[in-house]
Amino acid sequence: MSLLSTHGLTAHYGDFQALFGVDIRVEPGEAVAIIGANGAGKTTLMRSIAGVLRSAPGEVVFRGREIGALDAAAVMGAGLAMVPEGRRLFPSLSVEENLQIGCYGRKAPGPWSLDAIYDLFPILGERRHAPGTALSGGQQQMVAIGRALISNPDLLLCDEISLGLAPVVIRDIYAAVPRIREAGASLVVVEQDIGQALKVADRVYCMMEGRVTLEGTPDTLSREAIHDAYFGVS
Ligand code: ATP
Repeated sequence: MSLLSTHGLTAHYGDFQALFGVDIRVEPGEAVAIIGANGAGKTTLMRSIAGVLRSAPGEVVFRGREIGALDAAAVMGAGLAMVPEGRRLFPSLSVEENLQIGCYGRKAPGPWSLDAIYDLFPILGERRHAPGTALSGGQQQMVAIGRALISNPDLLLCDEISLGLAPVVIRDIYAAVPRIREAGASLVVVEQDIGQALKVADRVYCMMEGRVTLEGTPDTLSREAIHDAYFGVS
């Protein structure tokens, strides 16, 4: 049984339809990447799975349970955590307080304590009392990941975690992914950088204009197929 599956998932912003029948699945232990150009619907897909945008019942199944009608807090309680695009830290709170906020919705037994997060990202331990405003973009992203991990989710949804960061910082952040997997969580990673997505993922979905246009494993997808699925066949 898949850990997560969506079935004909649709999403709307008012009259505007942003998703048209999206089917994806994540198997236990997998890292899945979602690639696609600006506006393809990647963030909308993450928000629909996480319950931030409501979808119809039955369209999202997580650990065998329909969660499509649950709100974001209930989805988190079921074991699914999201690292949102833009990080969304509380600027006046310290690193440690921002991390602790991740425990309010759910604290399942598991590997991710504050100490484990400081071990994953040592700079956060050094800066544990610094306010969110004093952090670099990369450090803020580490806090956002730690805040999601601390609930010990079974599935972590990461929306554009490399956006706006320098290559050396992106490398540090992606270095955490294997450790997160070894600790038992599956991941969905939304990524505009195709090379990065192919490096980190077991399986890749490409989206365009609210639809999945390609699915495959990094070793079976050709550059041409990805190009066509990403930009459309010209
Ligand atoms: P990006 O890389 O820019 O985040 P994306 O692939 O994540 O792109 P979405 O943000 O999901 O794409 O956007 C999908 C479509 O929905 C776009 O056409 C976008 O303009 C539209 N959209 C997104 N958010 C809203 C909103 N709050 N209200 C209206 N339309 C929206």
